[in-house]
Amino acid sequence: MNRTALAALTLLASTAAFPATAQIDNSKPQPVPFSETIPTPVDTPYPGTITINVDASDTSQGLFKVTQSVPVAKAGPMTFLYPKWLPGHHSPSGPLDKVAGLVFRAGGQVLPWTRDKVDVYAYHIDVPEGAKTIDIAFTFLSATKSNQGRIQMTPEMLSLQWNTVSLYPAGYFTRGIPVAATVKYPAGWTAYSGLPSNATGSSYAYQQTDYETLIDSPTIAGKYTRQFALSDRVFLDVVADTPDELEATPEQIDAHKRLVEQTVKTFGSQHYDNYHFLFTISDNLGGIGLEHHRSSEDGADTGYFTDWKNQVPARNLLPHEYTHSWDGKFRRPAELWTPNYSVPMRDSGLWVYEGQTQFWGYVLQARSGLVSKEDTLDAYAYIAANYDNTPGRQWRPLIDTTNDPIISQRRPKGWTNYQRSEDYYNEGLLVWMEVDSILRQQSGGKKSIDDFARAFFGMRDGDWGVLTYTLDDVVATLNGIQPYDWAAFLNERLNDTSTHAPLAGFTNNGYKLVYTDEPSAYLKAIQKNYHRVDATHSLGLGTDDKGAVSTVIWNSPAFKAGLDVGDTITAVGGAAFSADRLNNAIRDAKTDKTPIRLLVQAGDLYKDIAIDYHGGLRYPHLEKTGKGETARPLRDGPVPVCSKEEDQCVSTWCRSATIPPKASTSSSKCPSGASP
Ligand SMILES: [Zn+2]
Repeated sequence: MNRTALAALTLLASTAAFPATAQIDNSKPQPVPFSETIPTPVDTPYPGTITINVDASDTSQGLFKVTQSVPVAKAGPMTFLYPKWLPGHHSPSGPLDKVAGLVFRAGGQVLPWTRDKVDVYAYHIDVPEGAKTIDIAFTFLSATKSNQGRIQMTPEMLSLQWNTVSLYPAGYFTRGIPVAATVKYPAGWTAYSGLPSNATGSSYAYQQTDYETLIDSPTIAGKYTRQFALSDRVFLDVVADTPDELEATPEQIDAHKRLVEQTVKTFGSQHYDNYHFLFTISDNLGGIGLEHHRSSEDGADTGYFTDWKNQVPARNLLPHEYTHSWDGKFRRPAELWTPNYSVPMRDSGLWVYEGQTQFWGYVLQARSGLVSKEDTLDAYAYIAANYDNTPGRQWRPLIDTTNDPIISQRRPKGWTNYQRSEDYYNEGLLVWMEVDSILRQQSGGKKSIDDFARAFFGMRDGDWGVLTYTLDDVVATLNGIQPYDWAAFLNERLNDTSTHAPLAGFTNNGYKLVYTDEPSAYLKAIQKNYHRVDATHSLGLGTDDKGAVSTVIWNSPAFKAGLDVGDTITAVGGAAFSADRLNNAIRDAKTDKTPIRLLVQAGDLYKDIAIDYHGGLRYPHLEKTGKGETARPLRDGPVPVCSKEEDQCVSTWCRSATIPPKASTSSSKCPSGASP
């Protein structure tokens, strides 16, 4: 509004009289009631086997062409669902917007469909009298540019997730819906999946299964592929942009073999018949890390093998996703398991599902030697410092961050450290580190989180169903290992707000968080690989290597100077921005006591900013305080102690036939945590 118009309105307002007509009440509507239009899922078998055929043979435009055939038992209303609440995403994020060209037919005749007004993932049709089968056709449109979503098809490879290329009938548990699926891949390509298949050329027919297992069994395929056996039943299936990216050295593959060995040793069981790391090395395919029972979808940038020494942070992905086969897929919070993908998930158990997986991911990368112990300690320091420097913890308890997959759906945030994000991952790690240290302290060194791993995740070797649990089950298992007021401890860690991160796990296990003016090798790798400049623990500022601000810590010197995400630092002390110039300015200001001068571009405006900060460069490290070997959880995995008698013990790792028997050192017939 311009100034003249504003003046005219002001004049009007001061002279206009209210009309003297009779007062009419404002209209007040009543809500239109909802009606139940979608059948509730029932635990009963679907009558007939659904077929799904996907033509993914033309990669030029990212199209997955789907035809489905669904036997039907009777005429009348029927509802089909597109998967909405996706396991591993913990949110209603099924990519419905990429479904196009949807047609339902019966006996060749097109049937009209309507979308449900409340649940837009549901389609209603009317099955005509005499129809035996409903045929469905649609195209799933992979993003062709990353601003549309995840790119799932490139000229060299594709990532096929069955939830994107199928509809399923409402009214049934998904485990009760039989399904047979085929995929036609581009000629000459090789495909991998946790679900067995028979291939004829590039056409793959997958073993008949149920819809829940199918959704849990994505595929990858590509022009350049290679498979490595990591154990008798675990495989590293690699698809890469170029053939040279497949050139892993024997030492690199040995490290991955030790990951499998150490993980199985730790949990004492395997919840799969076969397991496949579906590993894509690409700069073009959309990134991913997604867990499944018998596989994981693991995406890395090019250089994973060929630039091995600079890829340390990237090597946490496989230990994390593999751990999920135990923590998350086999054992799952009861409220996160749903009978179909339409029923909402409740995420409060993610501090175990993701938090303890994060814990084991780092422990197992060190135990296997996939990442050195020193780099792992530096990674811990990085996590500990970042979470200690999160002002959002003063208003938002950890448990509330488990809602973030639903609230934020991983959109970028402006004030992450004040809003908090999916903190249950890394702060979950800190909590479990503290649990480990308490188990060690309270038991005089006899018990540790390894006992929890075997007692909670290691039962029922070979079972790759879903065994659900509640918070009470977690507390009961901990108490079975070592009596302590676990309920009160966890309640405080999960539900209280606090000014500092829970770092007692490190101090109890012999380390303390310190800051020096030299970044660790691990932090240097992060800065290099992700093009970041990290001044979060000094100025309270993170940028990319061009000066674009990516982080401002709430109430930090950078915050008080008015910086925010979206600004770009164009100059430091009058000279063009570079990481070295910013770091030198922070270092110099410590001694010369003059403010750090930045020229900042915010939209079309340039502003001169002076930050009166003289604390110097600060980078986090863990400093050893205890005697001897103190990074206790990082040690080699536990030595299995199993005997024939112990095989009778319920709910522990000794049920695993894969672990060689060894004489027991304990007088008890059952290992700790087992209930005879
Ligand atoms: Zn995870």
